[in-house]
Amino acid sequence: MSAVDEVGGVAEAPPLRLAVIDLGAVRHNVQAVRALVGPAEVMAVVKANGYGHGAVQVARAAIDAGATWLGVADLDEALALRDAGLDVPVLAWLHGPQAGFTQAVLRSIDVGVSSVRQLDAIAATVAELRREVGAVARVQLKIDTGLGRNGACEAEWSALFGRAAELERSGEVVVTGLFSHLSNTSDEEDRAQLARLHSAVEQARVAGVVPPIIHLASTAGALRLPETRLSMVRLGIGMYGLSPFDDATSADLGLRPAMRVEGRVISVKRVPTGSAVSYGYTYRTSAESTLALVALGYADGIPRLGSNRAPVSIGGERFRVSGRIAMDQFVADVHDASVAVGDRVVLFGDPRDGHPSAEEWAEAAETINYEIVTRVGQRIERRYVS
Ligand SMILES: *Cc1c(COP(=O)(O)O)cnc(C)c1O
Repeated sequence: MSAVDEVGGVAEAPPLRLAVIDLGAVRHNVQAVRALVGPAEVMAVVKANGYGHGAVQVARAAIDAGATWLGVADLDEALALRDAGLDVPVLAWLHGPQAGFTQAVLRSIDVGVSSVRQLDAIAATVAELRREVGAVARVQLKIDTGLGRNGACEAEWSALFGRAAELERSGEVVVTGLFSHLSNTSDEEDRAQLARLHSAVEQARVAGVVPPIIHLASTAGALRLPETRLSMVRLGIGMYGLSPFDDATSADLGLRPAMRVEGRVISVKRVPTGSAVSYGYTYRTSAESTLALVALGYADGIPRLGSNRAPVSIGGERFRVSGRIAMDQFVADVHDASVAVGDRVVLFGDPRDGHPSAEEWAEAAETINYEIVTRVGQRIERRYVS
């Protein structure tokens, strides 16, 4: 589809589905957190395609703003950053049982290891590579201090530290860090985890491993529990300008939401009182009304639970999704507002610009803002602004 502009040239039509990513906001958020946590370093967490924002673009902006590390879940995500030319330290912490570490070693990815088994696999990789090149693996020891998820649990610490010390002495491995992850259950629980981390560091030291970087806090700990900042914080949601807390907004934290998701009105119809809308007729107009159709649906990550609940803004006015959100489209009853085909429909963005927030969508869909932005689908075009 193209529109003809006034001088007769062909102007580019706005995309049907658009996520505008403000890299200036990303830089601002990284700088704001750096100012707060310094001298602790900031690792920019760009897993899951940068929480839906675009991993490479966000990583570059974060590094511009002073982040010194990048963090991802999978090795493939780490390698994609290297492929894009990013050469800062990158930590990847989640590995499948058959994970191959060859590329990680060759391309200097720091591998977060949660078990002796993973350390052994890395040692075997290095031994294999040594026949050709003088390879050394960079590893960070991941400790479970109470989250009950990834990381070595206390019973395995001594074996893990012992093996790491051995591999460092023989030169196959360099331990670049030791880390854990908080449950954000309460300050008290988080402090108990911090105490366990300190005891792990001490145990590692006794075993002969002295990791130069110790880290524990993600956004929540970094912002609210200063003693968890240690040498580095792993900044995810806050870098994207969203709050990890129920009781504080982005603005309260001095953060700027980096993503705005918008669609276009693709059809408008005037219907009589009592007209039913979408599957299952969960919505009927209560008066003669105008229905605006938007080409965004659950295939695009727009949560179906937002049906009849979630807000949208059109021409600066607020409306609600009316009837069920379908795979590709939803309807908003705009009542008597003058809405036209082609009008911009903002689902969420920065509330300071008058847009609904990701948090409002999260509430409507009984989830958290993390999920709202991260699920924004591939079909939604990303455009980057500074
Ligand atoms: C995702 C993740 C983070 C970032 O958490 P935020 O709450 O988004 O700041 C940090 N550390 C680990 C281990 C993670 O998995």
